[in-house]
Amino acid sequence: MSTNEAAVVETPADAITGHSSGADWLSRYSSSLMGVFGTPQRVLVRGAGCLVWDADGKEYLDLLGGIAVNALGHAHPFVTSVISSQLATLGHVSNFFTSPTQIALAEKLLAISNAPTGSKVFFANSGTEANEAAFKLARRNSDGPHGKRTKIIALEGAFHGRTMGALALTAKEAYRTPFEPLPGGVVHIPFDDIDALRAAVDDSTAAVFLEPIQGEAGVRPLSAEYLRAAREITSAAGALLILDEVQTGIGRTGKWLASEDAGIVPDAITLAKGLGGGFPVGALITFGSSTSALLAAGQHGTTFGGNPVATAAALATLHAIESQGVLQNVRTIGAHIRAGLAATDAVTEVRGEGLLIGFDVNADIAPAMVTAALDAGFIVNSPGPHTIRLAPPLILTFEQADRFLAALPGLIATATATTAKDAQ
Ligand code: PLP
Repeated sequence: MSTNEAAVVETPADAITGHSSGADWLSRYSSSLMGVFGTPQRVLVRGAGCLVWDADGKEYLDLLGGIAVNALGHAHPFVTSVISSQLATLGHVSNFFTSPTQIALAEKLLAISNAPTGSKVFFANSGTEANEAAFKLARRNSDGPHGKRTKIIALEGAFHGRTMGALALTAKEAYRTPFEPLPGGVVHIPFDDIDALRAAVDDSTAAVFLEPIQGEAGVRPLSAEYLRAAREITSAAGALLILDEVQTGIGRTGKWLASEDAGIVPDAITLAKGLGGGFPVGALITFGSSTSALLAAGQHGTTFGGNPVATAAALATLHAIESQGVLQNVRTIGAHIRAGLAATDAVTEVRGEGLLIGFDVNADIAPAMVTAALDAGFIVNSPGPHTIRLAPPLILTFEQADRFLAALPGLIATATATTAKDAQ
């Protein structure tokens, strides 16, 4: 399925940028880009399937996929050709107009999410924007039986994005505190605790936001029992249940949506990351006509959201996932990796579903493992001091998964040694 050939590609942009070494690019980066991301680990110039190459020609097996974005890997031929031909045909129209790809994508999203009649889609450009739209939807669920609904509930450990509404839903103090006051009324309650949810939701609650698996918090799944209880509790109180599937949606867990198995119909779902196969696309799906009607004409909008190229990219991604048996591949390779991890010395816990995998090691060596992995030609991520996250392209092969599993004991040994040395 994946294409591993390292074809040399000279793009028109190369003629504009010219070529430099990785070190030169990084020095130019420090003088020209804002420091919000720290120093990037490498300068990447090219990708094919699950492989990427840096400016110095070094090859990496990409086990992070742009943080759960590159669903079909890099430079997927079908997605690339659909995007290119759409751009060469009609690149952008304002939202005074629509286009066939926008409508077809909305229809497809409603179909794969089993949305009931009256459900609708709003297109954005990112996860935080999709959640920003969902936040406004929640604010519009304002009339409770005994006055205004002002409370919005999210979970400890939640990550919903960095714009002000989404940041208010995000739990981490270090992200929130510098920007207070944030939009008010958000309460964070303990993770996966049904009693805490039951105690928190009342008739002043507008919405409950949940990630079926918390990705940024180290790949922590909510139980299906919790999701079902959340549906029952929110329905009884007239609060919206909004599922953030920005990281977990679009095949990441081997199903279209991670929440599928819980068998519930939420009031809204947000999507982004894998949806465009690498192209920036976000979406809010509202379930049922009364929820869809909460945002009326003129109450929300965007210039770029739903543009023909972005929606063509997403349509092509969904088509390729469906026609190439990708969901089955995610389930099989994901189970294989989790079994391999569980059998690895020093791995203390393995979490996640499909190809969204978190594992803990028995010491705070995860940042050093990321560096050791890069040196050995693997891209992984450490969302915590002893946690590694894998979110590779959904087309990862057995051979590629085994290559990482075989290298893992060596990466752990190297990271243990460098962490001990740094501590001296
Ligand atoms: N929601 C979840 C669950 C996420 O994981 C992320 C990003 O990591 C976001 C929202 C924000 O998405 P974006 O970075 O596209 O704004």
